[in-house]
Amino acid sequence: MIIKSLTLTNFRNYDLLDLSNIDKKRILFIGDNAQGKTNILEAIYILSFGNSYRKGKESDLIKFGHNECALFCELDTVLSTKKISLLIRKNSQKSIKIDGNVIKKTSDLVGNLKIVFFNVEDLNLIKGAPSDRRAFIDKVLSQIHEGYYYQLQVYNKLLQQKNITLKSLKDLSNKDHSLLDILDEEIAEISSKIYFNRISFINEILEFINNFHSKISGLDEKVDIKYEFSIPNLDFRNNLKEQILKYIENNRFKEIMRGQSLYGPHRDDITFYINSNDAKIFSSQGQQRTLVLALKLSEIKYINKKTKQLPILLLDDVMAELDNNRQNNLLELIGNDTQTFITTTHLEDFSKDWLNDTLILKVSNGNVCLN
Ligand code: ATP
Ligand code: MG
Repeated sequence: MIIKSLTLTNFRNYDLLDLSNIDKKRILFIGDNAQGKTNILEAIYILSFGNSYRKGKESDLIKFGHNECALFCELDTVLSTKKISLLIRKNSQKSIKIDGNVIKKTSDLVGNLKIVFFNVEDLNLIKGAPSDRRAFIDKVLSQIHEGYYYQLQVYNKLLQQKNITLKSLKDLSNKDHSLLDILDEEIAEISSKIYFNRISFINEILEFINNFHSKISGLDEKVDIKYEFSIPNLDFRNNLKEQILKYIENNRFKEIMRGQSLYGPHRDDITFYINSNDAKIFSSQGQQRTLVLALKLSEIKYINKKTKQLPILLLDDVMAELDNNRQNNLLELIGNDTQTFITTTHLEDFSKDWLNDTLILKVSNGNVCLN
């Protein structure tokens, strides 16, 4: 898929950004620090997921001194064109529309504009927090699997309710577990669905990762991924829901004492192995970067395999963090078909040939023009 045009009004440091005719395969934003490069990629991310990956309130997205901001893009997919718009207002619900039709649930937005987002923080994915690794899986699955995003939303709501209930039971004189029984039942049901999706994702993406990894490293190393369940000894050949429910119920006292839900998809992790060694412990900085590049490229491949569409790749400042070899490998392996938006502060990291085929736009203090 391709973004043909992007319009931002009162978004971050932009009064009006009107990018039409960007139906090119490579668009590079160049500019000094704090000029608005990342803000453009963030806007595309929001048009994809309905909210930002950056911390802060939704109203922070609105340009200082204004009451609302608007984001709009026109999309060319293999099958059709789509217009996605988002209006964010202070003190009121945001409104999302696709082709003029109001979208009530964010789960109906996600998956329309498919993206793979890659920024400097992702380079930490292997050794960073487990929540980052879970988010990596969830972001991909939400975009390809109708219903996965919804499952996650339901799961998170149930968890919130359960945590409140567990806290109320900490006072042991309160012996009414009936609400907890209902919540655990529902949580077990939805957990089993999330697990099936996550495990098949890992099984399927591994081949792509190994392929890219050996191309980038030039070595014959084997990558493995292990999904670390917070609930031990689950057997996928038998009724998963029953096993999950049994484990949670057997550990109810622990959860009540801690006042929070301790087992399930929100507490799991994934471990990466290179030649059977835990990459968190043994891999060098360079090895981790190679692995993350392989992961990101595999995301593109996986989304393409599942949906027959190529997602849009957003690369925020990552080139500067890579050595020459990995820079070249990355650009080469992305190929010429995936529409790629890249931000950078300087052009030295890109070859002349590559730049020749690229729309280069200069970003300066909330204004964008041809370089
Ligand atoms: P770097 O090269 O350092 O990553 P950048 O070009 O990517 O810089 P952005 O992250 O896009 O910079 O941010 C540009 C500017 O936008 C920042 O100076 C920030 O203060 C400003 N900004 C963020 N939110 C708002 C807002 N709501 N209203 C006005 N300006 C904002
Ligand atoms: Mg930036």
